[in-house]
Amino acid sequence: MKYTGMGVGLGVAAGPVKRMAHTVPEPTGGPSTLPKDVEIERAKRALDAVAAELEHRAQRSEGAAAEVLSAQVMMVQDPDVWDEIEASIEEGKSAEWAAHSSFESMAGILKSLGGTQAERAVDLIDIGWRTVATLMGVPYGVIPVSDEPFVLVADDLSPADTAVLDLTQVAALVTSGGSPTAHTAILARARGLVAVVSASGVLDIPDDTIVIVDAATGTVDSEPSAEQVEQVKSQRTESADDAPASPGRTSDGTAIPLLANVGSVADAKEALAKGAEGVGLLRTEFLFLGASEQPSVETQATEYTEIVAALGGQKVTARTLDAGADKPLPFLNLGHEENPALGVRGIRTGIKDESLLKNQLEALVQTQNAGVGELWVMAPMIADAAEAEWFVKHARAAGLNKVGVMIEVPSCALVAEDVYKVVDFVSIGTNDLTQYTMAADRQNGAVAGYQDAWHPAVLRLIGMVGAAATKAKKPLSVCGEAASDPLLALVLVGLGVTSLSMTPNALRDVRSTLVRYSIDEVRELANLAVAAGTAAGAREAVRAGLPRPPR
Ligand code: PEP
Ligand code: MG
Repeated sequence: MKYTGMGVGLGVAAGPVKRMAHTVPEPTGGPSTLPKDVEIERAKRALDAVAAELEHRAQRSEGAAAEVLSAQVMMVQDPDVWDEIEASIEEGKSAEWAAHSSFESMAGILKSLGGTQAERAVDLIDIGWRTVATLMGVPYGVIPVSDEPFVLVADDLSPADTAVLDLTQVAALVTSGGSPTAHTAILARARGLVAVVSASGVLDIPDDTIVIVDAATGTVDSEPSAEQVEQVKSQRTESADDAPASPGRTSDGTAIPLLANVGSVADAKEALAKGAEGVGLLRTEFLFLGASEQPSVETQATEYTEIVAALGGQKVTARTLDAGADKPLPFLNLGHEENPALGVRGIRTGIKDESLLKNQLEALVQTQNAGVGELWVMAPMIADAAEAEWFVKHARAAGLNKVGVMIEVPSCALVAEDVYKVVDFVSIGTNDLTQYTMAADRQNGAVAGYQDAWHPAVLRLIGMVGAAATKAKKPLSVCGEAASDPLLALVLVGLGVTSLSMTPNALRDVRSTLVRYSIDEVRELANLAVAAGTAAGAREAVRAGLPRPPR
């Protein structure tokens, strides 16, 4: 039998099914036998424990995983949820029931909003069950163990569990609920996990049934032949040994270099091993997140040079410190801000404290002149052409050769033609561009549904920058999460993007998708996406408009 859902990425995997055990009994709504202050204390402790566990997982994760888990921590600490829990306990209910019903009712509100908001409901339900399990002292969502890699089948795996899944154990993930833009799917993509979500009926597949999970077609086949299973298994081994990968290009030969986003030497090595053609985003602030003092020019130069050297001569695009908001650097002492995402962050920290920027530029010049590889340098969070010019002037005065800016603020996209007059290149940060276009804090789980770069409003802004890049005949990269979604990557190229930078795990799928379509075909797909009314509409229009399947 074939079950159909929605694939995440393009991978294929085979293995025996193991279903996730549900172990937490549903709390009853009867009156509590404990005093109210005891129940309140129990609820508080349980929420603190859940927040601490999610925080711990966030610290062990990176990129999208860390962001999603941090957003969940904020949901646990949401004062509105606490008010509801406290009110239920005051009415005489147990902490278990109060927590369960409060998170369920918040999830119900999100569900009733529909669309991508509804997809976040699972995050709240997950937190509710996690809290109940903590209160009852029972394990929550036990992931099965097995001697051989298996296909994990669940109702809807939580983001917290997806982030820490052991990839040597789990060959693929299949859920009956969820959607391709829910956090779980985003994390699966970032981790390179083969996944099919929203495949109804899969919970009926008995444990140990051998299945083939094909993300490209979004199917789960529970009756494959032994030959098909063998073919899938050998295919996976071959593609794992695929290096060196061919350069990114469209079917008719337009070169689209596929680059990696990195934050450390280890990331850089992984990127190279996975066939990256260079680094499109070195997040320099990641090197200094734990530093209590501003790192010296020498320390910085050593770190940057090591990373450039690790790339074996390929281009590295370093971004100057993008501190503030979601990436606080202790030595900056930015003080309290009501709206940190709209406050002193990115280049604004360098404008406020010029010595910080000057030191970093000096270190980058030392790396450039060390002769170990090619270095491009760009600044984050540039608001307009004047700010771009200010940065370029400082960078050139320091001695840097290739200088560009990130476009992450809508104002900057709107004046992209003027920006291109003063820079050598541009890279679009779609994570922030989406946050600011949609006016939705990317760290706030309650508005996470707006954080979807497929939204035609975001795509139209990218199209404006693409047109400016074409006119200026200068490079345009995308280094936000959007570049790692194979179908969205097609749209970006169709909008005029000339290179894509992503989490190394996404390189293979983006490369193999891009090479199937010509430049005219991806332009046509971009037109379909831009003409849509919603993010979901754009995604659907592109899926339906593909002249042939992605694999
Ligand atoms: C972005 O905003 O898309 C980006 C690449 O920068 P960061 O995620 O580090 O803010
Ligand atoms: Mg950004």
